[in-house]
Amino acid sequence: MEDYSDDIEDVLDRALAGGIINIITVGIDIPSSQKALALAERYDFIYSTAGFHPHNADDADTGKINELVRLASRSKKIVAWGEIGLDFYRHYSHVKNQIEIFELQIDAALDLNLPVIIHDRDAHDDVLNILNKRKNRAQKGVIHCFSGDYALAMSFIELGFYISIPGTVTYKNASITQEAAEKIPIERLLIETDAPFLAPIPLRGKRNEPCFIRHTAEKIALLRGIDLDELSHKTSANAKQLFGLS
Ligand SMILES: [Zn+2]
Repeated sequence: MEDYSDDIEDVLDRALAGGIINIITVGIDIPSSQKALALAERYDFIYSTAGFHPHNADDADTGKINELVRLASRSKKIVAWGEIGLDFYRHYSHVKNQIEIFELQIDAALDLNLPVIIHDRDAHDDVLNILNKRKNRAQKGVIHCFSGDYALAMSFIELGFYISIPGTVTYKNASITQEAAEKIPIERLLIETDAPFLAPIPLRGKRNEPCFIRHTAEKIALLRGIDLDELSHKTSANAKQLFGLS
């Protein structure tokens, strides 16, 4: 994103110095998917994704999705399809389009054998129903920036999905997210920055960046009563497994 156009090298240096091993940078439309791939091709430790975010569903169509399919088939550095999903909070695109573009993209990801990164904001029932319809096809993926409760997390996990917890878990009014982060099976837990958004406490309000994930990890380790090292190793191993990182 533009937020890093002035100091991307410094951000990446701080990430590596802070113990980050890999970064996955996501696409939200065609230009950003191309830019994400260009970054991934420049650095061994960075991977990327391709997809139309629900905010951009009004601009998407089958032809444009096929353009991203060609991009994703061309490079092994594209390790997932996303962000895709539904956002009934901001409503930047029409509901009907969001649903149609989401379903087309899940099917594209299934054909490409790529895991999906799913954005679900105030659309829990619809996302769950759409994934449920395809449960026999064993789609893999992650519910990113998970904002539901423990019961919803388990419904997604039963469909084979991972749950990714962002910096919001460190916030004061986050008891529902905290309970999910504490109780879901560790084999299904991922953590993320969602940079530049959602910086964890004590950096809340700042531009988020990869090395800040440490604060999110520390909070979840504390909630689960395990040490930071164990939490970090398990969630990194989960990410490697889901996204097939080498
Ligand atoms: Zn998102």
